[in-house]
Amino acid sequence: MPERRLEHANPAGPDAIVRAGLCIGCGSCVAQGRLDAHRVDMALDRYGELRPRGSPAWLREGPAPFARTCPFSPVAANESQLADDLFADTAHADGEVGRFRAAYVGHVAEPGFRERGSSGGMVSWTAGELLRTGAVDAVAHVAPADGERLFRYRLSRTPDELAAGAKSRYYPVEMSEVLETIRREPGRYAVVGVPCFVKAVQLLRREDPVMRERIVATLGLFCGHMKSTRLIESFALQMAVPMAEVRGVDFRLKNAQRPANWYTAHFELRDGRTVQRDWFHLAEGDWGSGFFQNEACNFCDDVVSETADIAFGDAWVEPYTSDGRGTNVVIVRSARMQAMVARAIDEGRLALAPVDAAFVARTQAAGLRHRREGLAYRLSWQRARAGSVRPVKRVQADTGIAWQRKLVYRTRAAISTWSRRLFAVSRAARAPWLYLGWARAALTLYHALAYSRGKLGAWFARIARTAGST
Ligand SMILES: Cc1cc2nc3c(=O)[nH]c(=O)nc-3n(C[C@H](O)[C@H](O)[C@H](O)COP(=O)(O)OP(=O)(O)OC[C@H]3O[C@@H](n4cnc5c(N)ncnc54)[C@H](O)[C@@H]3O)c2cc1C
Repeated sequence: MPERRLEHANPAGPDAIVRAGLCIGCGSCVAQGRLDAHRVDMALDRYGELRPRGSPAWLREGPAPFARTCPFSPVAANESQLADDLFADTAHADGEVGRFRAAYVGHVAEPGFRERGSSGGMVSWTAGELLRTGAVDAVAHVAPADGERLFRYRLSRTPDELAAGAKSRYYPVEMSEVLETIRREPGRYAVVGVPCFVKAVQLLRREDPVMRERIVATLGLFCGHMKSTRLIESFALQMAVPMAEVRGVDFRLKNAQRPANWYTAHFELRDGRTVQRDWFHLAEGDWGSGFFQNEACNFCDDVVSETADIAFGDAWVEPYTSDGRGTNVVIVRSARMQAMVARAIDEGRLALAPVDAAFVARTQAAGLRHRREGLAYRLSWQRARAGSVRPVKRVQADTGIAWQRKLVYRTRAAISTWSRRLFAVSRAARAPWLYLGWARAALTLYHALAYSRGKLGAWFARIARTAGST
């Protein structure tokens, strides 16, 4: 990918990043602010997304190194620059998969992990192995919580605590509290996160020698995009369950008898009952359609956690997609992780087979298309909002794609934007039918565009040309 352009770069504070639609809500700026004794925190906004909260003066300026530590800041080091410094001696460097020593497909062979995990259980195993061998004292990861937010980052110090946090949480979370604790309490820590969160950690480690010394391992998740709290609220509505009754959520109930990509949402209720529904019977059930996607994800170009010591995803290719037990793809970037994984394969504790970059990229074909071709197109229509920050990415703006693809990206972006807005309106008006009616119609349109071939595609292309859309 070409080098970053620095024109339009504007090293502004948190408020400008939020207004530009570039805040992912990671909490890095708030952690730094609190350490400087500012009264700041992360709070859910009206769209069910996490945003920094503080005095107008602090939000304008942020912590001193904000421009270099916010993962969406246009002047912060990008993923390639970070990875070049962190993993300079890797054998492989790939435009889609990043720098790496080895890549694998498979699952944990040791009992318990695969069954409990969303995929092959590799994230929980790796984090547990770091704890078991004394390489780290605690792991920052996401677990169920009580209160307004159903999931939060926490520090787990025992295998049991870690195990209780297994599974993917498509829900807004933030790291301010765990980062603050890591800065205050000496020890060695690992952090699990989606790509932009791991990038935030690496940017912080660059800036702050204490964080550099204490965060000794980063475990990255592959990422399609982040969802708001409204995903669960809408699922609850469609299952006729009041949100106040929901005690716990499993986004991907495991069922070895069915394909791994047939997601089932499973809710535990306060009265002990459970309800569940397959994602494809829910209005937002097609991940690619972009419902409740955080705006910042429109401007991300890292699918596979390029700055993490080790990164994990689902093997979304056959025969693994059809295997309901779950299968990981794993990218190993650091020498220490490589030694740990190789030893465990030899000992028969991990059932992993080596694969190449092309295989890994194939498992994430849709995500990579959206973050390369799609991002290039989105950048072409993104205009700097008045007084705000313009994204600077490793991908350059480009409109040279087929009309049907343009329509797919336009529709996805519209679904992201309007799902947030319409849900807010229908929630305030206590009129769920308003949002749900629109959502079902929008999904039908998206499916017609994204999956149609031949005549229908040509028909949409003709409409687009007539409308002069780019
Ligand atoms: C928002 C999101 C989007 C994703 N998109 C993709 C994708 O497009 N393609 C793909 O192949 N994989 C994606 N994944 C990763 C995938 O869902 C699995 O998490 C991954 O394959 C690991 O499975 P596992 O069985 O090894 O992990 P498990 O053993 O189940 O452990 C998961 C670990 O991740 C932690 N965790 C869960 N949610 C979060 C979170 N939101 N932030 C930080 N830590 C968390 C848990 O606390 C636990 O420690 C995504 C994950 C998330 C959270």
